[in-house]
Amino acid sequence: MVYYCFVANLQQRLPENVPGDFFVDATCIDCDTCSELAPTVFRDHGDQCSVYHQPETDAETERALMALVACPTGSIGTIERHNARIGIDAFPLLLSDNVYFCGFTSESSFGAWSYLIVRPASEGGNILIDSPRFATQLVKRIEAMGSVSRMLLTHKDDIAAHELFRDKFNCERVMHADDGANRIGVEHVLRGEDPVQLDDDLLVIPTPGHTRGHVVYLYRNKFLFTGDHLAWSPARQTLTAFRSVSWYSWPEQTRSMEKLLSYEFEWVLPGHGDIHKDDAKTMHDHLAGCVRWMKAIK
Ligand code: SF4
Repeated sequence: MVYYCFVANLQQRLPENVPGDFFVDATCIDCDTCSELAPTVFRDHGDQCSVYHQPETDAETERALMALVACPTGSIGTIERHNARIGIDAFPLLLSDNVYFCGFTSESSFGAWSYLIVRPASEGGNILIDSPRFATQLVKRIEAMGSVSRMLLTHKDDIAAHELFRDKFNCERVMHADDGANRIGVEHVLRGEDPVQLDDDLLVIPTPGHTRGHVVYLYRNKFLFTGDHLAWSPARQTLTAFRSVSWYSWPEQTRSMEKLLSYEFEWVLPGHGDIHKDDAKTMHDHLAGCVRWMKAIK
């Protein structure tokens, strides 16, 4: 058994935490990773997250330990000792088919979620979508799963440790020129607004709005990796976009969203905001509603 004393600072324990083992400290940056991974334990109480219910079952404890590992700032701690491997070994976490959530989010991308597609070499090898933290435990796991042949970057905010992954795996990075791909030495630079077929089952669709060079990636007409363009809103129970962080242009982002109505997908896998799975028809209906909602607000 490997035990681990968790790093969050008990002296900075937020008063919003309920008493007990797990807690969040004052360094929390409110990325919501914990409340999405372990919603029965953590909640967003305003501008930070805290523990509102201590884990009672093994399943809840496992999820809380996964949140602790995934937290970008080491802001989650425990009073008791726990087996660290429970949280560490959970990542990459299988979502569906051959698509995984990497966990181990990075503070430099504000806790953005990144994903791993596992494919045999004959199909082009594994793909990282945006960058997790370059954590030794995760890197070893990814290496054991077949390395990384390509790194798809949705936009400039979520590139985190891209150089370290590039150096480790000698992978080709893909990113749009309008988000500074040339400046950071990306190997495959995208240009313009036309979709680009990267592989038979992998399409990149430029979606300017959040940033000028934002793109989304569509895999197998099933998985849409949306960066900061599109996510699920648990509050509104539909797809949404983030008006307050539409840094480049909300009208452009609305136009980009409308373009996605031409495509079919069942999964929305964002950098920030909640994941959503639905049948393609229902997803399309949600997307159409999102476009109407975006057009209604300025
Ligand atoms: S994962 Fe960490 S930084 Fe993100 S909301 Fe939770 S405690 Fe805060």
